[in-house]
Amino acid sequence: MQGNELIQGIVVKTYNSFYYVQTNSSQITCTLRGRMKQERFSLLVGDIVQYTLNGPDKGVIEQILPRRTKLERPMVANVDQVIVTFAAATPDLHVGLVDRFLVLAALSGLKAYLCINKIELLPADRLQDIINLYRAIGYPVLALSAKEGTGVAELKQILYGKISAFAGPSGVGKSTLLNAIEPGFQLTTGELSEKIGRGKHTTRFAQLLPLAGGEGFVVDTPGFSFTEFSGIKEAQLADCFPEMEPYSAHCRFSSCLHVKEPQCAVKEAVTDGHIAQSRYASYLEIIGELREQRNKF
Ligand code: GDP
Ligand code: ZN
Repeated sequence: MQGNELIQGIVVKTYNSFYYVQTNSSQITCTLRGRMKQERFSLLVGDIVQYTLNGPDKGVIEQILPRRTKLERPMVANVDQVIVTFAAATPDLHVGLVDRFLVLAALSGLKAYLCINKIELLPADRLQDIINLYRAIGYPVLALSAKEGTGVAELKQILYGKISAFAGPSGVGKSTLLNAIEPGFQLTTGELSEKIGRGKHTTRFAQLLPLAGGEGFVVDTPGFSFTEFSGIKEAQLADCFPEMEPYSAHCRFSSCLHVKEPQCAVKEAVTDGHIAQSRYASYLEIIGELREQRNKF
């Protein structure tokens, strides 16, 4: 089992100085090659590495391949997409909060899906309004019920072959959905109070959970925290609202932030109903927060 052959895999878990690397359906426990010890603190779950074997299930990491993306909280490399998960009810769906998560996904450079769970709890017409709102902007929307099994197969298909992170408020059913997709995950589900311990403890030590057959991975802790709004510039925000793009080029001022400026094409589009009021309200709210932060420093 000794060899010089470089084998490629993905780091799914780190513990002390051990890196658990998944290749096809086997997991290899790796250490870092001596000359790479400086990478000890920068090697992340999600990194693609090349290793050599020095035992049946033991290896040495020789190389780290370039990263495509990097999530900060939790720290995970190479996440492809975020499944922004909300419940149709219990807890109530607040579109303002949905928009914040979609902005965070955009800032991380990740493709976002909007996944609405517990659909059996909301009348079909109200659900359809929400679905239409986000589909019109261009977000792929999934409506499902982990409880009744609706839409779970579709979600599974979206996760296939990708590294996905689930984001969204507590209690919307993220763990239940993941267990429905892969019963082997056995994630704790239930009331918020029962889960606080796990949430706090695992945030720093995210793991990738392999989907059956190694065809894709999910991050085991919900992605994102709201602190990430800090550090972004007000002028960047409109880029996170894709429906504003066709209009912003027609504003009177090229530096228009679409707040109080005259002859703002974005505001006109809101008045004319081309941009949803709720989305524009979310935009103003976040702009306001960014201004407050800026004034503090
Ligand atoms: P998480 O905090 O987002 O991981 O949420 P959990 O997976 O722990 O689920 C929170 C609660 O919602 C649990 O009591 C689940 O049984 C319940 N739940 C999950 N999915 C559904 C669903 O589709 N319909 C209903 N009615 N309840 C659900
Ligand atoms: Zn404008």
